[in-house]
Amino acid sequence: RAAQNIESAFLFYSEEMNQRAKEHLRLETELRLALVNQELLLYYQPKVSLRSGRIVGAEALLRWRHPVRGLVSPGVFIPVAEETGLILELGSWVLDEACRQVREWKDANLIMPTIAVNLSARQFDQHLPGRVAAVLERHGVQPEQIMLEITESLLVRGADNVIAIMNELVAMGMALALDDFGTGYSSLAYLKKFPISTLKIDRAFVTGLPYEENDCAIARAIVTMAQQLRQEIVAEGVETAEQMSFLRELGCDQLQGYLFSQPVPAADFERMLREGKRLAFNSR
Ligand code: C2E
Ligand code: MG
Ligand code: MG
Ligand code: MG
Repeated sequence: RAAQNIESAFLFYSEEMNQRAKEHLRLETELRLALVNQELLLYYQPKVSLRSGRIVGAEALLRWRHPVRGLVSPGVFIPVAEETGLILELGSWVLDEACRQVREWKDANLIMPTIAVNLSARQFDQHLPGRVAAVLERHGVQPEQIMLEITESLLVRGADNVIAIMNELVAMGMALALDDFGTGYSSLAYLKKFPISTLKIDRAFVTGLPYEENDCAIARAIVTMAQQLRQEIVAEGVETAEQMSFLRELGCDQLQGYLFSQPVPAADFERMLREGKRLAFNSR
């Protein structure tokens, strides 16, 4: 009886794995087509200053308008892209599209804040600075206009050439932000080794503010040390006025989250810039 159960459990398990492998393969094939069929687009989520309330940046976030599935979020397809190496092509497309859009907005006389682009660790090789420089040049975009968001996994890999590549990007005039800070393994002290100008506190530690004591302590520690390292601090995933007030009192520099805006299509972000949309501090 037990043996039979184990056997059927195994059959069930392998059937499930089989399904997952098929789904994975289908996504991979469709993702390749997505690049060709122009189903990819960028949404933009504003970053606002906790001093002035003004938009001081935006993060470009990849979206996939799938003909059948509808709008697919990166949480679904980025892992597949990472595994298959397709992330290199996606990453190139994202940088190119962000620069194209910035150029278009500049040509329309908009005052552009810094636009941040997410980079996969897999994009980080010795050719990256040259590739980035070529894209910027092609669109006539200044390096200071684009910020690159990287994650801790890259730092933990810790290779000397990672620091050298970062230094090269910084020397070009680009700013580097450390995304999802606190979820990885790098300690605050360890950060000194890297030329990073901005820390993004992960949403996981923002959600519990100001009621969860642990989250408050973590947020306070991150802000305090980042200030000593002269880094800008952005809080991710801010959804409530209480979270905002707490972060503002801590001395956090910027906020990114649904409280101000969800990620939106380019046209909507453009409207926010034109209208000078601002964060209201007394919106309790
Ligand atoms: P991320 O870089 O940490 O981006 C922030 C994510 O948090 C976005 O999810 C955003 O929509 C979400 N978010 C922002 N504010 C709030 C909030 O107030 N509440 C909640 N619940 N969520 C909020 P999204 O767009 O689904 O992207 C997920 C992740 O996918 C990103 O996390 C990033 O790691 C990855 N990703 C997105 N675009 C790209 C890309 O072009 N290249 C690479 N390599 N990764 C990307
Ligand atoms: Mg990011
Ligand atoms: Mg993040
Ligand atoms: Mg995050």
